[in-house]
Amino acid sequence: MLIGAVADDITGATDLCLMLARSGLRTVQIMDVPPPGTALPDADAVVIALKSRTIPAAQAVALSVAAAQALLNAGARQILFKYCSTFDSTDAGNIGPVTAALMALIGTDLTIACPAFPANGRTVYLGHLFVGTQLLSDSPMKDHPLTPMRDANLVRVLARQTDLPIGLLATPVLRGGVAAIRAAFEAQRAAGRSIVITDAQTDADLLAIGAACADMPLVTGGSGIAMGLAQNFAASGSRPASLPATMAAPPGRAAILAGSCSTATLGQIAWARAAGLPVLTLDPLALADGRQTPEQIADWACLQTGPLPPLICASADAATLTRTQAELGRAESGAVVEQTLARTARLLQARGFTRLIIAGGETSGAVVAALGVRSLHIGPEIDPGVPWTHSIDGPPMALALKSGNFGAADFFVRAWTFLTTDTAS
Ligand code: ADP
Repeated sequence: MLIGAVADDITGATDLCLMLARSGLRTVQIMDVPPPGTALPDADAVVIALKSRTIPAAQAVALSVAAAQALLNAGARQILFKYCSTFDSTDAGNIGPVTAALMALIGTDLTIACPAFPANGRTVYLGHLFVGTQLLSDSPMKDHPLTPMRDANLVRVLARQTDLPIGLLATPVLRGGVAAIRAAFEAQRAAGRSIVITDAQTDADLLAIGAACADMPLVTGGSGIAMGLAQNFAASGSRPASLPATMAAPPGRAAILAGSCSTATLGQIAWARAAGLPVLTLDPLALADGRQTPEQIADWACLQTGPLPPLICASADAATLTRTQAELGRAESGAVVEQTLARTARLLQARGFTRLIIAGGETSGAVVAALGVRSLHIGPEIDPGVPWTHSIDGPPMALALKSGNFGAADFFVRAWTFLTTDTAS
């Protein structure tokens, strides 16, 4: 195994797998920490998807350390801790505590934090994270239901999460090339810094940073940095790969479950509604007191027998979300929506639905766990960072797990065109 990765949510893991597969590495995604003694798949890169982004820091640390240990035991040459390109976390963690714990596990004194993903508009300049042309703290991420990001200065954000000293690789140094970046890392180490926030605004920046990190046993960041890391292994047998243009999916019905309140998902829902998809909107208050149940929701989906797949969404705008959270609590309202969508997915699977788009990272984690799918094969790329995937075990299903803010406006309509019917299933 060349790269072993621990991802803090499932859509992030899928996004990372896509990047690694595109770079020519044979890549498999597995769900959760494998039980002790389990043989990991024979692959160039194995990505373990956790659901650790918003759980208490101590639990996130324990899971991440166990996952990294399993990857090290399987011979991983480099460990990558993958989190969101918008650095989704709170002052309580989990990026800082998990990074510190992985550094201790591996016995390294320097790593980087490189969330940039320029293809999706996430760039870092002088330590400040931008979403498109907006500072993170001005972007819709300031209103995220679970991890509202109200500070764009990542040095400051990370310093609130860990006692480890934080450094910065600033753009003027970065543009000096690989040797200058390596020298800057050594200077940071000599100055006693442990985690270096890296600027990056282009794919070329990521390739240069990746090359400079070739000997780092632990790297942390978004999926973008994987592009830079994968190139280091080109001499070790990886080869440029072209992803398949289509994927054979098991015969069966299709549906969309959206639990993300991100701007991109809200736009995709509006597009789908205008395109004529049948839409059922969930009300968390009704879910909490049993007026709306997974059984009713699944019944509604089964009745939508027209040519367009049904869309079930909990997604709400910021004002509605604030009212719901005031009534139910932030964690509680998130949990009731996630559990409802997860149970609904299970019911739909039992009733012959084999093709699902799930919008939202936490939402996707809950749904895939409920479906009993343990590992995924990566298929065609629908939009940057979002592939179709096929279950390797558990029920045969085609799943598109979409990070809330990813995908073009027509995603819920266009994604299906990448699927053909697997007549062998
Ligand atoms: P994203 O990928 O956009 O971050 P996630 O699924 O990770 O999406 O997070 C969205 C969270 O918001 C989930 O926990 C989900 O259950 C919750 N949520 C979705 N709709 C609502 C709503 N109407 N009220 C409260 N919470 C909601």
